[in-house]
Amino acid sequence: MKKLNLWTLRSNVWRTMNDEKQITCICCPRGCRVTAGLTPEFHAAGEACQRGREYAREELVSPKRTVTAVVRTDSPSRRYAPVKTDQPLEIRYIDALLRELYRVRISLPCRLGSAILTNVHGTGVNVVVTRSLSDE
Ligand code: SF4
Repeated sequence: MKKLNLWTLRSNVWRTMNDEKQITCICCPRGCRVTAGLTPEFHAAGEACQRGREYAREELVSPKRTVTAVVRTDSPSRRYAPVKTDQPLEIRYIDALLRELYRVRISLPCRLGSAILTNVHGTGVNVVVTRSLSDE
């Protein structure tokens, strides 16, 4: 087993704080802990396959998340409809999207999968209804 001296420990922590990120890969249930950084070029360690490497790169360069929310309806009996993005959206657009969804009001009935917003911020991501609702 490799011995760690104080200098090695300190430089590892320093490097981790300033350059590298610890990322848990969510591409499969194994959940590998990947340490990755971008300087001087992209590097990663701890992943068990290429998917984890690509996931870590995306997390560093432009992290994305699937957004779920509810929007108001025009029905007095069913006041909210559940919605989500049909693909993960870049994190930097999420706040603006949530503010936009807050203003949206849809008419019932609506069908599962129908789009209420398309091409969010030019990303090609749509927001769709996740449940068919009738106006009853
Ligand atoms: S790196 Fe590969 S094996 Fe590990 S969690 Fe990600 S997809 Fe699964």
